[in-house]
Amino acid sequence: MDIKKLVRPNIRSLKAYKAKEIPCRVKLDANERPYGFTVLKSIKTNRYPDPEALELRKLVARGWKVKYGNTLHGNGSDELIYYLITAFGGPVLYPVPTFSMYGIISQALNARKIEVPLDENFDLDLKKMLKVIRKDKPKLTFLSSPNNPTGNAFSVDKIEKIIKASKGLVVVDEAYQDYSAKRSFLTLFKKYKNIVTLRTLSKIGMAGLRTGFMIADTEIVDEVNKVRLPFNLNSLSQKVAIEGLQKKKEMSSSIRSIISERKKLFKEMQKMDGIDPNPSDANFILFKADSSDNIYKGLLKKKILIRDMSGTIKDCLRVTVGTPAENSAFLKALKQLYNIMI
Ligand code: PMP
Repeated sequence: MDIKKLVRPNIRSLKAYKAKEIPCRVKLDANERPYGFTVLKSIKTNRYPDPEALELRKLVARGWKVKYGNTLHGNGSDELIYYLITAFGGPVLYPVPTFSMYGIISQALNARKIEVPLDENFDLDLKKMLKVIRKDKPKLTFLSSPNNPTGNAFSVDKIEKIIKASKGLVVVDEAYQDYSAKRSFLTLFKKYKNIVTLRTLSKIGMAGLRTGFMIADTEIVDEVNKVRLPFNLNSLSQKVAIEGLQKKKEMSSSIRSIISERKKLFKEMQKMDGIDPNPSDANFILFKADSSDNIYKGLLKKKILIRDMSGTIKDCLRVTVGTPAENSAFLKALKQLYNIMI
């Protein structure tokens, strides 16, 4: 695959902004103020952050068994979606319903969108996807797996067939992968050059840091890096993300706890009349609810906020898995509301 041919001509000839970190004693090169203060012991507010986020990228790369040159950091994975569409352009293919930013950013950047409905199990409609891939030759195909808002991961076999059939890049958005038992595509770029994987720290307790990553062949990373804003990840985020990721025990125990809570929540919801939860590989559950509008409003009156998805999927609501106490409160309120309505 010739990535140079795939990338927009204006990006092909562009040179990435380079802000090299040169060690020195007196630093007077970047219009910084010499006086600052230190937070979290070692963060200097007067200095620009490391533009390459090297320490953080090296840390995540080690964990994923890839080279740091195969990673690129974003101010959330949202930003990387923006950069990918900026660098490669349209047509942009994605199944629906899915994460709304693929469509919003495509439109913002004037890239043609092609939406293919998921099948009745919210899995990929392989036949239709392949047909579009052959006919319209999308530059980018976004597959959120596990998928937001449906919660299920797509079948691995179908994703692989899409990757093989695509002449463009296939972006597997694994924002919720930590909660899934299905295979990850993160290291598969070593086999198929056209895979890009997206990961984020947002779903594992660090949403406030706005930190996400893409993992891909270095040639793709280098092209996308050309459109990245130089200091897109601030010093605080870099530092705190490193500290957060080093708390490995805490991280894995909270992931385990969310998975077990999700299973409990799903079972309880399945038992309830009028509620039909969709199996989830993520940290949330999409469910169909009789009188979904009343349920949503009723929960809100009890100060329980979930997401109304009925505009996208008829009668559907989405609940994020919380702490055991939060989940119990949600279930209790849901039961009360149905008892009143019946
Ligand atoms: N991808 C998917 C599938 C998501 O659901 C989200 C967050 N809602 C994102 C990407 C963006 O995550 P962030 O920008 O916080 O990294």
